Amino acid sequence: MDKRIYVDHSATTPVLPQVLEKMLPYFTENFGNASSIYSEGRDAKRAIEAAREKVAKAIGADASEIFFTGCGTEADNWAVRGTAYANRAKGNHIITSSVEHHAVLHTCQSLEKEGFEVTYLPVDEFGRVSPDDVKAAITDKTILITIMFANNEIGTIMPIEKIAKVAEDAGVPFHTDAVQAIGLVPIDVSKVNISMLSMSAHKFGGPKGIGALYVKKGTKLNNFMNGGAQERNKRAGTENTPAIVGMGEAIEIATADIEGKAKKLSALRDAYIEKVLSKIPYSHLNGHPTERLASNANISFEFIEGEGMLLSLDMKGIAASSGSACTSGSLDPSHVLLAIGLKHEEAHGSLRVTFGEENTMEDVDYIVDNLAVIVERLRSMSPLYEEFVKNAK
Ligand code: PLP
Repeated sequence: MDKRIYVDHSATTPVLPQVLEKMLPYFTENFGNASSIYSEGRDAKRAIEAAREKVAKAIGADASEIFFTGCGTEADNWAVRGTAYANRAKGNHIITSSVEHHAVLHTCQSLEKEGFEVTYLPVDEFGRVSPDDVKAAITDKTILITIMFANNEIGTIMPIEKIAKVAEDAGVPFHTDAVQAIGLVPIDVSKVNISMLSMSAHKFGGPKGIGALYVKKGTKLNNFMNGGAQERNKRAGTENTPAIVGMGEAIEIATADIEGKAKKLSALRDAYIEKVLSKIPYSHLNGHPTERLASNANISFEFIEGEGMLLSLDMKGIAASSGSACTSGSLDPSHVLLAIGLKHEEAHGSLRVTFGEENTMEDVDYIVDNLAVIVERLRSMSPLYEEFVKNAK
């Protein structure tokens, strides 16, 4: 099978050639340690600071507010844990949502074992947290509100500005996991009261293994990694210069024309959704109809096992996902799909397609045509479907 169509851009994206080109010299001729005072070290340091400026500019921050991390997961762990420990004397209550990425959810769960109390807010049928629910959950012990910007599975965009305002009015630090939003939704931290924001380069054309945490000036945050004085004493460890350079380059490209990119991707997404829902019976869109990432289409197919669908698509040259990258491999149904009210069997039969700029309308047609055949074949082998059809007659 020569033809491959990659529609799993929420799992990861290919490194852009321009990004790779900028990274390469920092593996070889410019290999210096940024902490060294001789010229090789100063070259690396300069490149890191230039990348920091680019990341800051992309979200309306100051460069001094950007800290590079090993990945998006680390940025989330640091924001949640670092805020919890820094404010322990003040309180022990954290507010989050039931649809967060495991990087936030599992961190909150582990903090519960250390005596912190966590409120996991429910979401509506589209996966949105209500700002009123956030407000109602705040107590005088609340030290952190952490709600994701956009969901990695169903693509729903949260009412972040309203939640940020609730947090600001209550004087509670607000963290948002924006790993899926960067490059798809405009973000300006100079206009919205966000205390901390997590990013990950491999979701927007950069390399894997590099992320960043925006920390608004004045936010109390304990160190996550201890060791050397890198990242202004906040995150020890010799800087990954090539990856940092790649992240700077990638975020500049990804945020240069968000509107144009979103327009192109949403045309593919909408055509795909419309074609699937009209061609394949008993299929339902998951997530918000309009407040969703331009790249994301998550559809449930009744009487279908997601794994079977993914394998069949793979054999046709199509790479998609049945859940988030981190939960695929596990047979548990997605916590996000359960949180929006799907039954276990409905959650199992979901397919996430996330488009990227290299995808075309021909790809959409190829995927839909193959999907229709695959769904019909898998249903023909399902005793449940057979019984359903018999009863429907
Ligand atoms: N947060 C969200 C919403 C994600 O989608 C992901 C990755 O899928 C992460 C955090 C983790 O990022 P990383 O893969 O860089 O650790």
